[in-house]
Parts: sequence; C-alpha cells; structure tokens
Amino acid sequence: MNLIFLGAPGAGKGTAATKLSELLDIPHISTGDIFRTNISNGTELGKLADQYISKGNLVPDDVTIGMVKARLSEPECQKGFILDGFPRTLGQAEALDRFLAEDGRKIDRAIDIVLSEATLVERLTNRRVCVACKLSYNLKTHKIADNTCPVCGGSLIMRDDDNPQVIAARMVAYHKDTEPLIDYYVRSRRLVRVNSEEKIADTFANILTALEIRGIKI
Ligand SMILES: [Zn+2]
Repeated sequence: MNLIFLGAPGAGKGTAATKLSELLDIPHISTGDIFRTNISNGTELGKLADQYISKGNLVPDDVTIGMVKARLSEPECQKGFILDGFPRTLGQAEALDRFLAEDGRKIDRAIDIVLSEATLVERLTNRRVCVACKLSYNLKTHKIADNTCPVCGGSLIMRDDDNPQVIAARMVAYHKDTEPLIDYYVRSRRLVRVNSEEKIADTFANILTALEIRGIKI
C-alpha cells in the first residue's frame, strides 16, 4: 500500500506515520530524511540540493522530485511506503503519479490530518523544549516542575515559532499551499480525512478506522 500523509505542522502526522509504518511493515519516508541521506552520501542531487540550502534558497522541484523518485525505486519500497512531507505542491503530486505509473504503481490514499487552529495553538503553546537535551514536553501531559527537564535537569523554553501569531501565519500559508493538493486527491477519490482534535493516540485509531471505511484492509 502506497500512502501519503498531509496535515499542518504540529498536527501529529510524523508520530502517526511512524506508528502506521510499524503496523503495516512498510517504510516511513520523510522528505527531511531523504535530503539528509542524499547530502551526507554526496549524491549528485544531494550536492545540488546542498548548494541551494546553504544559500538559504528553496530547493527546486525537479531536484526534490528526483531524490524522492530514486528513494521510491529502492527494493524496500516496492511492497509499499508512507511518504511524509512530500508532495507539497500540485506539481509534485502530478510528478509523483507520473513516475509511479511508469512501473505500474500508484498512490492509494492521501491521508489528511485535520485539526482546528485553536487546537493547534493550544497544543503548540503548551510545548516546551529542553535547551540541553532537546527533548520536548507538553505541559498538559507531562508533570514539569520549575521549568526543568526531568531527564537532564536543563532549562525548558518555548520555541519562538510556537507563539500564537506565528502559528496563525503558518496555518494561513499551509492552507494556501495545500488546497490545490487536497483538491487533486479529492477529485481522484483518494483523500481520507482524519480528525486530530483529540489526543494523538486517538488520531492513530481514527486513521485505521478511516482507511478501513475506504476499503483498505489493515
Ligand atoms: Zn533535557
């Protein structure tokens, strides 16, 4: 089964994708991992991507698409995969369908994790990160005393981009970028919407239910 995960940053798609990949025994592939592997292995595309990233520029679509295509051609991905962080644009989604079709594959379902801005703000403003060990905590679910990391004793801080104004701006940008992508998967009847208003654990249960309703046997 070939799946992609969509959803605003902070919606919990990374966690859900990891759990689903373990359950289905198929690789969870994040764009971040693909970039890091290509750059550290010094592949041609990795060198090219590094030139853009080190200048603070966006990596062009054809470079990103090339790296994803190479990764999905590996034997490990033939029985299925979960893509997380790609595609981000309609052009990337169309390219993905085109190159998968070359060897008779397709994206079966696009899972969109939906949550309201209010919930996202609440979730992210309760997040604290340890300056020393970088672990992150949620003030609602972890017992934290004196803003001190229970693992290493370091100070816990709120990340600059976890404040409500920055989150609101990120949500606007996210919806503007992904609406054409969502439409594309709705029109081709592959979109599965999953509610993430509750706890992350419930999100995972909701994903399994939604996939089964749409005819996927888990
Ligand atoms: Zn710590």
